[in-house]
Amino acid sequence: MIMPERESSKAPTIDPSADPLDPGFQDALVAGEARLSPEQALDAWHRMPIADLGRLADRRCRAIHGDSIRTYVIDRNINYTNVCTAKCTFCAFRRDQDAQDAYTLEYDELLQKIREVVAIGGTQILMQGGMNPELPLDWYVELLRSIKAEFPDLHVHAFSPPEFIEFVNFFDPEGDTLADKLRTVLRPLVEAGLDSIPGGGGEIFADAVRRKIGLGKCTAEAWLTVMRVAHEFGLNTSATMMFGHIEGVGDRIHHLELVRRWQDDAINDFAADGGGRYHAFISWPFQPDNTPLGRLKAWGDVEGDDPDAPFPGDVVGLLDGSGDRSLHREFGRRLRLAGATTYLRTQALSRLYLDNIWSIGSSWVTMGPHIGQVALRFGANDMGSVMMEENVVSSAGTAHCLNEPMICRLIRDAGFVPAQRDNDYRVLTPHFAPKGPDLEVEDWSKYRATSLHKQTESTEEGAGCGSHFGTTTGDASAIVDLTVKGD
Ligand code: SF4
Repeated sequence: MIMPERESSKAPTIDPSADPLDPGFQDALVAGEARLSPEQALDAWHRMPIADLGRLADRRCRAIHGDSIRTYVIDRNINYTNVCTAKCTFCAFRRDQDAQDAYTLEYDELLQKIREVVAIGGTQILMQGGMNPELPLDWYVELLRSIKAEFPDLHVHAFSPPEFIEFVNFFDPEGDTLADKLRTVLRPLVEAGLDSIPGGGGEIFADAVRRKIGLGKCTAEAWLTVMRVAHEFGLNTSATMMFGHIEGVGDRIHHLELVRRWQDDAINDFAADGGGRYHAFISWPFQPDNTPLGRLKAWGDVEGDDPDAPFPGDVVGLLDGSGDRSLHREFGRRLRLAGATTYLRTQALSRLYLDNIWSIGSSWVTMGPHIGQVALRFGANDMGSVMMEENVVSSAGTAHCLNEPMICRLIRDAGFVPAQRDNDYRVLTPHFAPKGPDLEVEDWSKYRATSLHKQTESTEEGAGCGSHFGTTTGDASAIVDLTVKGD
C-alpha cells in the first residue's frame, strides 16, 4: 500500500507583484513554493490559453502525484431519502414529504445495496440525502451501527454539511455556538461509525449567488464550520464547487480562496494532533435539465440584453465575495452554462490555486468519460468512483456509468497506470501491465452498450440535482458508450 504524503503545514507565499505568465513564477507554482493570489488567478484565467493553463496544472499535478499512477475508488452512492425542506433552484432531486414519489430507504434496502458494492470489491459508501425533518438523530445513529455491525471495514463517507446544519435545526442539540451544537451532533455519529464527510452542498460560496440558488440551504460560513468541526474530530472531508450558472469567474476564485484558507487553518490547528483536513476538491458544471434554474435564459438571449457587455455574474462576482445583486439588475436572471473547455480551465485553475489540497477529482460523471479522461491532463489525479448507482445528476440531464475495466482503460489511455484507492487516497492495488481489469478484457464491444443513464423503475426514480450530493453514482444497467483508442 502506498501512502499519500501529508500536505505541508508551511503554506507557500504570495508575491502580489509576480506575473502569472512569468516562467520563473510558474516554476515556483509547480514546485509548491509560490501561491496564487485571487488577482493573479483572475489574471491567469483571462490571459492564459487553455492549453497553457492545462499544461501548468498538469505539471503541478505531476509534482504532487508523480508521473505514473492515477486513481479511482470502488464505492456506491446511496441517497437515503429525497425528502428535503430546502428548495434549491438547481435541484430536481428533492421532494416534499407528501409527494407521491417521496422515499426514505429502509435499513434492509440500504444494507442490500452495500452488500452489492462489497461483492465487487467496494471499499466505501457515499451516503447522502435530502434534509428530511421526519428522521430523528437516532435513525442515523442506528443506521451507522447497523452498517458497521455487518461491514466493520467499510468506510462510511456520509452526510454533507447542509444535512448537518439541518440536524442542528431539527434536533436542537446542546451548545452555545453553532460549532458547539455541531460537536453535540457529530459525536454520536462518529462513535456509531461515520468515517468522513463529503463536500456536497458547496455550490458557490459567495452570498449573492448562494441566496439566489440555494433557497433554504446553509450559508457558506455554516458549511465551512461543519467541516472545521469535522477536522477537529479527526475526520477528513472533501470540498466541491458547482459552477456555470449565474456566478462570475470572480465567485469561483473566491470559492477556491475560502477552501484554501480554511484548509490552512485545519492544517495549522489540527495536523499536529492527528486532525482531519480537506483531502480532495472536485468541481463540475451545473446540469440544467428539469431544474427551475435551468429554465433561465442565457445572457444575450433576451431582448434588451447586450451580449457584448459583461455577464451579470461577472459584474456582481467580486474576488472578496462582497458583490451585491444591486450591482446588476439582471443578476440571477441569466445563465452562463459551462461547457467542456470552461470545465477544464476551471479544474486546472483549482489545481494551481489549491496548493494545500492533495487530490483533484475529475468529474467524468457530468462531463462524460472522455472529457473526464482529458481532465487527467488538466490537473486531476483521480477519476473518482465507478458508477454503481446514480440518483441525482441523472434526472438533471447528465450521468454516465463506468465499470472498473472501463475506468482503468480510460486512465491507461491517458498515459497513466490505473490504481484502486481507498477513501484516504491510499493506493490499494496498482494495475501495472500486463495485469489489470482493463487488460483482461478480450471483447470491448460489450462495454460500449448504452449512453445516458436515466432511472425509470427504481424507488429512487426521478432524482437529479448534482450539487448537494457531489459526484454521484448509478445503477449499472446503463453503460456509457466507450469509444476509446484501439477499438
Ligand atoms: S440540492 Fe440538496 S438541499 Fe438543495 S433541494 Fe436538493 S436535496 Fe435539498
